[in-house]
Amino acid sequence: MRILATNDDGIRAEGLWTLASELSRIAEVVVVAPDRDHSGAGTSVTLRQPLRITRIESPVQAIPAYSVEGTPADSVILAINAILRGKNIDFVVSGVNEGPNLGDDVFISGTVGAALQGYLRGIRSIALSVAGSGALHFEVAARVARILVSSITMADLSHRLLLNINLPNLELRALKGIEVTRLGERKYPDGIESRYDAERDYYRIIRGNSEWHAPPGTDVWAIRQGLISLTPFPVAGAIESMTQWEFFQQLAIHVYHELLNEAKEV
Ligand code: MN
Repeated sequence: MRILATNDDGIRAEGLWTLASELSRIAEVVVVAPDRDHSGAGTSVTLRQPLRITRIESPVQAIPAYSVEGTPADSVILAINAILRGKNIDFVVSGVNEGPNLGDDVFISGTVGAALQGYLRGIRSIALSVAGSGALHFEVAARVARILVSSITMADLSHRLLLNINLPNLELRALKGIEVTRLGERKYPDGIESRYDAERDYYRIIRGNSEWHAPPGTDVWAIRQGLISLTPFPVAGAIESMTQWEFFQQLAIHVYHELLNEAKEV
């Protein structure tokens, strides 16, 4: 099995390497990511500039790593079509992002944007984020990713797959469970700051505090309850039937069960 790992926080991001190391226990992992932080880049693709790829010295032995002078989406496109050209890729895993990617925010998320590029090319793709700031439990999210990849592989799905996973920033034992969710709604209180720099006016987009409409069953609600949130994206036939919804419920239960088993062994 081969997994492409990426991260919109950039090639040096701690969450990326925690993820890549964990996934290398079950697969051949290749890391391709932007050379700098591109959070908020969404699905943005660079069309009017040349893109360079640099092979970098990997912080984890035996995991090849490449940095791209472009967006998270560019990184995945170049990984598939240049770096790993002609090779089979079983999963694209994007993360572990530093901070949440919930509700309406997923449409500007570079983490989800990168996973989307894998999905669009027929590869099962998973975005992973830890909802918190400061010291984050990347190791728990990485573990969830490994168990998910194994479980999905065993399930042998016929349909395409794009999953958005968020975890509350808790240690393994403090997690309350896992929930299959839909996206919450966010009110966008963006403000504009304008200044004059002695030549021209310029503007900055200021992102205010989030105000959520998050009833039970939404991803934002799940995180607030201390639950792992698993949102299957209803794109291009991914969730057409109740059977598929049930599949995700079963998958979630299985993943949580495995997590608890591993916690017991520790
Ligand atoms: Mn990010």
